[in-house]
Amino acid sequence: MELNQTNWTVEQLAELLALPDFSRMYAYADKINCQVHGDIIEIRAILEFSNICKRRCAYCGLNSQNSKVRRYRMSEKEIMETAIIAAEAGYRTLVMQSGEDDYFNRRRLGELVRQIKKQTGMAITVSCGEKSYEDYAWIRQAGADRYLLKHETADPDIYAGLHAGDALSNRLRCLKDIKELGFETGSGFMIGLPGQSLKTIAQDILLLKEIGCDMAGIGPFIPSPDTELKDWPAGSAELTKRAVALTRILLPDANLPATTALGVLVKTDKYSIFQCGANVIMRKVTPQKYEECYSIYPNQIEVRDIFKERKQLEQMIRGMGKIPR
Ligand code: SAH
Repeated sequence: MELNQTNWTVEQLAELLALPDFSRMYAYADKINCQVHGDIIEIRAILEFSNICKRRCAYCGLNSQNSKVRRYRMSEKEIMETAIIAAEAGYRTLVMQSGEDDYFNRRRLGELVRQIKKQTGMAITVSCGEKSYEDYAWIRQAGADRYLLKHETADPDIYAGLHAGDALSNRLRCLKDIKELGFETGSGFMIGLPGQSLKTIAQDILLLKEIGCDMAGIGPFIPSPDTELKDWPAGSAELTKRAVALTRILLPDANLPATTALGVLVKTDKYSIFQCGANVIMRKVTPQKYEECYSIYPNQIEVRDIFKERKQLEQMIRGMGKIPR
């Protein structure tokens, strides 16, 4: 198989994922990454402003069936204050993420986006789940630059099984709307879901291309207590890195974050992902008192001091010979 081929089939991609030695692919992905993105690692702040959610995603600790989570919803004032601190600490992008919380309708969300942009000038990514075309249009109109909605899995049956019967087709409709409205469009998927095969992952990668993703978050599944999948094993870090590398080769321009989930899984070499094609890292800026409640999956990364952590992250990136931005 040609390395610089960009029209791989599902079968060919699945074969590549299974290579006994992947080092040549990693090197090629890294080369492309350096050619397109140079030595720059983009840093994004993520603010988890509500963990209230009406959905029932089987893998997610925030699903509405989980009565063990203490639910919170940050006030508009608190969200603004946190966003301003993040901007002062040096962040230039804010990812506003939440469960599917109807309190934050398009009017409230749009107003927040408008105010944060006005007061901080940060680029805004919204990551609040599935909405109507009209809702997305409103949020875009308010000034949101990007929307992140992972497709989670490209297999419609696996998808329906994990989402209480909800259809992959609606998720894809959302992504199509998002793209059409001119958002920088982010999707992504998990590695290690029940029923997934290398062929499914190959389909996931090709779907990113089909959607026309400007960014893609690929992370290992991590079992979350008090969910249906609590006893299912975590996804493979190696396979995650392979999927990121192949995505880099197929989507040279895309922003590919080293997902937090991968960092949770591999503490020892969690930054080696930046040699496999990733060029983005996210840091939580959620106030500490809420942080433990936003437990999509168990996560030891704590927020204590937004300024100090930003500095530490920049140092870490420079330590790898890269440039933080
Ligand atoms: N409600 C928003 C935000 C979802 S949380 C939305 O629907 O888009 C962000 C991402 O976390 C999800 O898209 C999913 O890919 C990931 N995630 C959720 N539970 C996870 C788990 N147990 N392990 C790994 N990743 C998980």
